[in-house]
Amino acid sequence: MLRESLIFVGTCDIAGHVRGKGFPARELDARRRKGVGWTHSNLMQSAFGDIFQTPFGTGGDLMIVPDPDAAVHVDFEDGSAPEHFMLGDIRNTDGTPWECCPREFLRRAIAAVREAAGLDVLATFEQEFVYTGNEARPGDSYALGAFRRQGVFGEAFVAALRAAGVTPDSFLAEYGARQFEVTVAPAQALHAADQAVITREMARATAHRLGHRAVFSPMPVPDGVGNGVHVHFSLWDEQGRPAMHDPQGDRGLGAAAARFAAGLLHHLPAIAAITAPSPVSYLRLTPNRWAPTAIDLARQDRGAALRICPVFAAAGPEEAAAQFNLEFRVADGTASPYMVLGALLFAGADGLRRGLSIPTGDAAALPRSLSEALDRMADSEAVATWFGPTFRDAYLMHKRAELAHVGDLAAAELCRRYAEVY
Ligand code: GLU
Ligand code: MG
Repeated sequence: MLRESLIFVGTCDIAGHVRGKGFPARELDARRRKGVGWTHSNLMQSAFGDIFQTPFGTGGDLMIVPDPDAAVHVDFEDGSAPEHFMLGDIRNTDGTPWECCPREFLRRAIAAVREAAGLDVLATFEQEFVYTGNEARPGDSYALGAFRRQGVFGEAFVAALRAAGVTPDSFLAEYGARQFEVTVAPAQALHAADQAVITREMARATAHRLGHRAVFSPMPVPDGVGNGVHVHFSLWDEQGRPAMHDPQGDRGLGAAAARFAAGLLHHLPAIAAITAPSPVSYLRLTPNRWAPTAIDLARQDRGAALRICPVFAAAGPEEAAAQFNLEFRVADGTASPYMVLGALLFAGADGLRRGLSIPTGDAAALPRSLSEALDRMADSEAVATWFGPTFRDAYLMHKRAELAHVGDLAAAELCRRYAEVY
């Protein structure tokens, strides 16, 4: 059949979807500068596609400009059109960053950490999802049987990741029914968020070619465990030395790591609406699901909001310091990785800047619903500063309008609707 190569340029927006536009690949040189046309109200597209409410109306022009560092070209060699896309930044027509660009939000957060303490962040997203190509069988948790019965999905997925420039670390059958998990190597923060987006899309792309789906919704059904997104991160100084670990420090945390964690815990009630941004997110954040319910930091505890990860078989103190990382567990696949990591870094930077200490005593509860989380976000002056007024108000309007749209649905129907789109 006559064919011509196409490229898609897009961004992972505040609904957590990758949206953008395609064009003939031969036009790429011209498109590197002018990108693809976009408009302000595109930001307000809900999880379901509908724009329920927008402050921007129908006017205005923007562009999504591709970043050559976030380019994917993966040919599955099965006759299907290759996955050829680039992630990019939403810019004004004069080329300046648009104030509501999620990727720019993360860039500003990276700069805030650097400004607060001269530190850089390495991160990686550990992501869980349901692969619909497996039947659910009792006893399948972490089982070789489940691992085998996913057939060629795992191998094709891992090959696609590598071809997309992401280094796969592990692929496993998880605890939940038909649930799998993928981990990838850490990278500099912006790149790590790009890779999280690419990882999700490669899982979907692989499943699609096999006639199935990879579902990242935090609770595809109301029972059982959810799909979490766990963000591992570490701080590094300007000389490239790890700045997380102090064997003498509280639970092994160095001074910078403790302040960063304290900032995160302090702002967690206000950023939950960013990292767990859907009504179904709060069905996951409930007891006995290995998901967090409180604003706590714990060593090697998979029920904590912030977990101090173990160091495995370190050859010496240097390797122990390099391996030492924290894991943020209050995130899920309905959130844009740019927004998740951006919120995390802004909160941590504030802890660094103000020299905050990790609270002692009983841990407060996480917000129990999206509505509560959005109210806490709206109350936060810090969040308002990180976003800027236009972006903050648009974000709150987006999520509140979506919540109003699905607010009356029973849990099973709510889960079904979100599993359909994530
Ligand atoms: N599925 C759990 C979650 O929703 C996490 C299980 C694990 O520790 O990997 O976060
Ligand atoms: Mg897991």
